[in-house]
Amino acid sequence: MNNNRRSFLKKLGVATAAIAINPLEAKNIFDIPAPKKVNKPIVISTWDFGLKANEAAWEVLKNKGKALDAVEAGVKIPEGDPTERSVGYGGRPDRDGKVTLDACIMDENANIGSVAGLEYIKHPISVARAVMEKTPHVMLVGDGALEFALSQGFQKENLLTPESEKEWKEWLKESKYKPIVNIENHDTIGMLALDEYGNLSGACTTSGMAYKLHGRVGDSPIIGAGLYVDNEVGGATSTGHGEEVIRTVGSHLVVELMRQGRTPQQACEEAVRRIVKFIHNRKKDVKDIQVGFLALSKKGEVGAYCIQSGFSYAVYDKTGNHLHKSNFEVKL
Ligand code: ASP
Repeated sequence: MNNNRRSFLKKLGVATAAIAINPLEAKNIFDIPAPKKVNKPIVISTWDFGLKANEAAWEVLKNKGKALDAVEAGVKIPEGDPTERSVGYGGRPDRDGKVTLDACIMDENANIGSVAGLEYIKHPISVARAVMEKTPHVMLVGDGALEFALSQGFQKENLLTPESEKEWKEWLKESKYKPIVNIENHDTIGMLALDEYGNLSGACTTSGMAYKLHGRVGDSPIIGAGLYVDNEVGGATSTGHGEEVIRTVGSHLVVELMRQGRTPQQACEEAVRRIVKFIHNRKKDVKDIQVGFLALSKKGEVGAYCIQSGFSYAVYDKTGNHLHKSNFEVKL
């Protein structure tokens, strides 16, 4: 065998050995190297109430706390505030006068926890975290979620404030289900944080659409729809008409677009356009529908986009806590 052939076979041998490696041990070709320049820590969240929520999250982040603890602490602010009428305590009820809450949480290791249709518990996000940390499951709903919460020491409270009860009784006179775009008869706090260690987590919580059918679940407690975090790439969260977000598995879509190389802004824009296309295909009127996406990359870059004007979001990083208006797709 001449030298050339020997070296050719040697090379081939090496190549064959490489192919023979157990595929489970092979490096994932989609693995993305950690970015070098990172804007961290940073926390971002949906709507004007995001400003106050960010303050609580920043307290955790600036003391070198974990993103997971930051997002839980952050979204608990509007959850516990009875003047915020679309999240937690004080949230508007369903058509039967019941305040039913949806929430989910996701950490950097793809640990997830979620509750849907949870009644009587002021902080559904903490119940979602308990589902994540203390059960072998990822989602509990309705009575089962309540039983679990009580077993974990959460207090049973009346969440229907006198204001919400009064409005609901007024609504009953006509009983027309009509979610109003950008007006607070629905909204969600979705929050994403990147901590000092470069890890991402997210949380999402809402009382959902006011006067919804009892049992209706929106996008917010559904991992992939209302929230998704991929610690190699980034995270995304959504607000607005949950049915539209579920149809496109919106937050997962945004994160996957980022994985393919889009910036958070480009990814949010593409996901909104997908939803608008589906609205047109289904011959619905886009003016009645709002969806907003918010995204954060592993580098600490922010993206936001919505269907129509009116969506705001708050960003807290080393430069301070600032409220921004999102760009939008449809000029009406
Ligand atoms: N996405 C929420 C839901 O559909 C509501 C909202 O964010 O406006 O329940």
